Amino acid sequence: MVKYIDEYRNPEWCRQLLMQIEQIVDRPVRLMEVCGTHTMAIARNGIRAMLPGDITLLSGPGCPVCVTAQEEIDRCLALAEQENVIITTFGDLMRVPGSDTSLQQQRAHGADVRVVYSPLNCLEIARDNPDREVVFLGVGFETTAPAVAATILQAAVRHIDNFSVLSMHKVVPPALHALMQHPDVRVDGFILPGHVSVIIGARAYRNIADQYEVACVIAGFEPVDILDCIRRLLAQIRNGRAAVEIAYGRAVTVDGNARARAVMEQVFKPSDAMWRGIGVIPGSGLILREKYRDYDAAQRFTLSIDSKPEVSGCRCGDILIGKRTPPECPLFAVSCIPQHPVGPCMVSSEGTCAAYYRYLR
Ligand code: SF4
Repeated sequence: MVKYIDEYRNPEWCRQLLMQIEQIVDRPVRLMEVCGTHTMAIARNGIRAMLPGDITLLSGPGCPVCVTAQEEIDRCLALAEQENVIITTFGDLMRVPGSDTSLQQQRAHGADVRVVYSPLNCLEIARDNPDREVVFLGVGFETTAPAVAATILQAAVRHIDNFSVLSMHKVVPPALHALMQHPDVRVDGFILPGHVSVIIGARAYRNIADQYEVACVIAGFEPVDILDCIRRLLAQIRNGRAAVEIAYGRAVTVDGNARARAVMEQVFKPSDAMWRGIGVIPGSGLILREKYRDYDAAQRFTLSIDSKPEVSGCRCGDILIGKRTPPECPLFAVSCIPQHPVGPCMVSSEGTCAAYYRYLR
C-alpha cells in the first residue's frame, strides 16, 4: 500500500506534470479547491509555489467545520448546557468558537462532551447510559452523512431511544452553484473533492460544468493527483471545454456509491442551510425525515439561541469563498493562531488559515 501511494508522490512524475502545466497555461487562471483535505495537501506539498505565476489557487468552502454557521455552533453549545445530556462529536468541532464559548471550554467547566471516532460509538455510549440523552453533532458533507444515517437506522433496529442527531450536514453541489452565482467569486475551474465524489460520483457535477461553462476535475490527495488535476483543468480551459473529468480513478466513478447514497436518502431529506461566508443556500442541507424524527435532536430539544455577530476583523467568510487569503486578515498570526483561534478556519485541521499558518507563513 505504501509503495502504491509512493507512486503518486514520485518527484519525477511531478516534474513532468509541472513541465506540461507550464506548456499549457496561456493566460491567468483561477482554480478553486473545494475540499479542506486538498487545501492542506496543496499547502503541505508546496504546490502553490511550484506553479507558474499565471495560476492562482483559491481555497473554497470545503471544510465542513469552517462553513458551519455561528448560530449552529451556538445551538451545539446550548445543547451541551442541557441537564442530563451527553454530547458526542468529532474532535475538530471541539475548539470552534461560538458567540461566547466553545465545546472544549464547556467540557472544562463540567459539561459531558465526548469525542468519538465513529457515530456508531454513540450507540454504545447511549446503551451504557440509559438514563441520559446522547446527542451526536452531525457536521460534514456527503462523506460523513451516510455513516450517520446508518447509525440512526441501527439505533432504530436496536431500540436505542436515548440517542439523537443534531444534523448540520451539508451537500456540495448546491454550494458550487452558489459560488458560481456569487458576485465576488470568479473561478475558471474547480478542483473537485475526492472523498465526497466517491459517494456522489462525477455525474453529480455535470450541470455545474454545463450551466456555468466551468472546467471541473475530481482529484485525489497526493501531489501527482493534484498536479494531474491542474493539468487537465488547464487543458480544458485552453481548449474552451467545460466537462467533468475524473483524475482520481482509483476511488471515484461516474455514478458514485449508490448504496451509501440510498442509506443517506432513506434517513435525510434536503433542506435550506446557512453556510458561513455564503449565506443560505437552497437545498444544501440535510435534515432527518419525519419517519426518523424521534432521532432528531432539533425536534427533541427546545433551545433558545442568542447568537452574537461574528468576531470583528475575522475574515473567515471571505476566505471560504476565495475572496481573500489568510494573510489578508488583520488577525492572522497576530491574535489568531492555532493555539488561540479566533475563527473556525484557524481551528480545523482542514481550515485554510490553519494550512497557511502551518506551511505558508
Ligand atoms: Fe478568522 Fe483567524 Fe482566519 Fe482571520 S486568521 S480569518 S480571524 S480564522
